[in-house]
Amino acid sequence: AKQDGRGILRFFSPELTARAKARLALEVELRHAIEGDELLLYYQPQTDLASGETVGLEALVRWRHPARGMIQPGDFIPLAEESGLVVPLGDWVLLTACRQIKAWLDAGLAPCRTAVNVSTVQLSRDHLIESVQHALRETGIPPERLELEITESFLMADREHAFRALAELRALGVRLSIDDFGTGYSSLAYLQRIEIHELKIDISFVRDVTTNLSNASIVKAIIALGHSLGSQIVAEGVETQAQADYLRALHCDMIQGYLVSRPLPVEETTLFLKRIGAT
Ligand code: C2E
Ligand code: CA
Ligand code: CA
Ligand code: CA
Repeated sequence: AKQDGRGILRFFSPELTARAKARLALEVELRHAIEGDELLLYYQPQTDLASGETVGLEALVRWRHPARGMIQPGDFIPLAEESGLVVPLGDWVLLTACRQIKAWLDAGLAPCRTAVNVSTVQLSRDHLIESVQHALRETGIPPERLELEITESFLMADREHAFRALAELRALGVRLSIDDFGTGYSSLAYLQRIEIHELKIDISFVRDVTTNLSNASIVKAIIALGHSLGSQIVAEGVETQAQADYLRALHCDMIQGYLVSRPLPVEETTLFLKRIGAT
């Protein structure tokens, strides 16, 4: 029996134990997946709305489970964060993405930058700086080819710590992007203190931007705010030409979404880059 915060005695139900066991099993499997070769990165293009050029890619992790097939990040990143496995997983993502950037650079195919997602759990540990340094050193890629996507929630937790962590990352020369922008409450003053290259408007505002007036106002406000701070704006989850046209009219800089391409495995990304002739 365990005593919870309210002084009530609770007993583990068989159902709870089964769930805990399943979780533990998945955790063991995920640890194995990180050490083995079951993880892979897909890449989704980011397109400049004015020129139509592919200016960036975002790396998105997938887990090719030997029995369960392809598992999407939404189904294992939360577990990786709770268990701390997101730290070695994040190291793998960083190194793998940087090696791929190097390969595309060597082939004359690399777009301006490639972004990786960084979990708040990784950011709250000092280890991240070393991981980024290591990945840059090992691959020798120019730091500005790498972009880190940080969720807005990170900026809200411990502001002073977040500021120091971002300042250290900036000093390495990598680009910073704030993911899911608009869902949190990062203050203007805060964003002014550090150079943020990019804000990504959350998919929830983009989805019905052409029909929902209040979402359209939020998108307009984010674009104005971002531009006044010197950041570029990416709209994520753009699926229709109508959304793209609307966003272009609002002076949004870039779009990412199924309209241009779904996230693609490496070989298909390379073919995509060859087809568009990026340099
Ligand atoms: P996110 O960073 O906001 O990534 C965008 C998600 O939207 C991706 O889902 C992408 O496949 C999806 N998406 C792209 N275009 C469209 C579209 O037009 N319509 C719709 N409905 N969806 C679109 P995905 O790949 O399943 O990733 C989900 C989340 O998992 C990501 O959200 C990110 O928070 C997390 N994640 C993915 N890869 C990593 C990683 O390497 N490390 C960490 N820490 N988190 C990751
Ligand atoms: Ca980007
Ligand atoms: Ca992202
Ligand atoms: Ca998002």
